[in-house]
Amino acid sequence: MDRNISRRRFVAASSAAAVSLGLGRRAGAATAAGAADVAIIGAGLAGLNAALLLEELGARTVVLEASSRPGGRCLTRDDWYRHPDLGGAQIGRDYARVLDIAARLGVGLGPGAHVNAPYSFVIGDRLVPAGQWPTSPLNRLSDAERSIPPHTLLGHYVEERNPLQGADAWLQPAAAAYDLSLAEWLGRQGASPEARRLIQESQGVALEKLSVLRMMQEAARARVAMTAQPAAPGKDAYQRIGPQSLHVVGGTSRLTEAMARALGDRVRLGMRVDAVDMDASGCELRCADGTRLRARYTIAAVPFSVLRRIRISPALQGDQAEAVARMPYGNQSQVWLRAKEPYWEKDGIEASMWTDGPFTLIRQQIEADGTRELVSVLSFSDKARRLDALPEAERGRQAIAAIERMRPAARGTLEFIGAHSWELAPFSRGCSFQLVPGRVRAWQQAMARPHERLHFAGEHLRRLEIGMEAAMESGEHAAGEVAQRLLG
Ligand SMILES: Cc1cc2nc3c(=O)[nH]c(=O)nc-3n(C[C@H](O)[C@H](O)[C@H](O)COP(=O)(O)OP(=O)(O)OC[C@H]3O[C@@H](n4cnc5c(N)ncnc54)[C@H](O)[C@@H]3O)c2cc1C
Repeated sequence: MDRNISRRRFVAASSAAAVSLGLGRRAGAATAAGAADVAIIGAGLAGLNAALLLEELGARTVVLEASSRPGGRCLTRDDWYRHPDLGGAQIGRDYARVLDIAARLGVGLGPGAHVNAPYSFVIGDRLVPAGQWPTSPLNRLSDAERSIPPHTLLGHYVEERNPLQGADAWLQPAAAAYDLSLAEWLGRQGASPEARRLIQESQGVALEKLSVLRMMQEAARARVAMTAQPAAPGKDAYQRIGPQSLHVVGGTSRLTEAMARALGDRVRLGMRVDAVDMDASGCELRCADGTRLRARYTIAAVPFSVLRRIRISPALQGDQAEAVARMPYGNQSQVWLRAKEPYWEKDGIEASMWTDGPFTLIRQQIEADGTRELVSVLSFSDKARRLDALPEAERGRQAIAAIERMRPAARGTLEFIGAHSWELAPFSRGCSFQLVPGRVRAWQQAMARPHERLHFAGEHLRRLEIGMEAAMESGEHAAGEVAQRLLG
């Protein structure tokens, strides 16, 4: 099956094949024997999409989800003030699969909260309005970099000097030349020590640990999306694409709930898979509650941060085993606040802030209707881990204290709504995958390869896409692989 086949074409072509080859009939035989054709671990976008596609082909699926809700890293906190999205929210206008499934399921999309508001900057607790940044004495960047806002420095280098042309360039053998750490690559680009310091503050982790090839993939994909966007100096790709993006009406959870609803009783919540045992006749999945299920094939649609806790027999081997065991995951620790009064109107400075302190991004969110009330405070990776050691309310207290210190106009205006850490979320254990510099090529070739009767999906197995669309892409790919085996 063509790996890059579009979802519509996949569905149309595969449905025709299923009818002519009798997949539906064979699936029925499996059901009669009490086993599913395909067990899918995880009801995030990847697992749900794989299940929907396989069901359309006539296969009988069961989706085992550890949590009490579907959606994984799509999470709308309906119980919080103004019900913010804590995970995937912005839907690119070129997310073909997400747009398609939303239309098919009648899920509304529209303009949403604009989180890329203009920023002011805080260096060592001292506030610099955006307009003063190029001439501020706190700006210790090189002459060539001085006019670049701190939060767009990484984008400046990776976007403008990205050697990869096209969304699939990172998969080509020539990309091996960029299987380097961000530290090494920025050094080769002549980035100043201060630029590297500010980028490290943004990332919350040593630049030696970050793969530049993974960033180039995102930048190359964003470049494709941006072909129709006008240039905007001082804004990176995501700031330019952000305001154009769509959001699910009522929050992203409405989309994953609709996908789960379409699967009906195929989705089983509260079923944490602990083990997958495979033999010549099929797979047996063992759940934490003692349930055992049989299926002919299994798709593990969970991040490697949790897959490494599932016992797989026969065990994974070589580079694939290494990728599952070692793939690093970034953390994002969030504190959500309500601004009871618009502190930014009191001091006339940009409401959102980038800081080189423990709270990296303080984002004043502008809702689709123009309301400005929510403030999300984000810390990343190692900085986030330090914050996560505190109870949630204390994280909120420290975030408010930091903002009031940096921004006297904010005193008494902020109220704690809630805190969430993606690393502490037991079935995510991280925000997004990273790749180990020097291992990207080896892992790329190994990590999505089917192992016995086990196939893999999830945004970390992206090929051409990013974010939610990458999760959908990976689910489609795994469904295609399994469909071929069911038909064979
Ligand atoms: C903070 C944040 C912001 C983001 N913003 C955007 C954005 O604006 N736009 C965008 O396109 N993308 C965004 N993303 C990315 C997007 O949300 C993800 O790419 C996508 O949701 C991942 O889907 P997935 O199916 O691969 O994984 P997940 O959503 O993680 O799904 C995995 C599922 O497996 C379940 N599970 C785990 N362990 C087990 C087990 N042992 N047994 C059974 N089930 C298990 C989990 O509970 C979960 O439901 C964001 C992500 C985060 C975290």
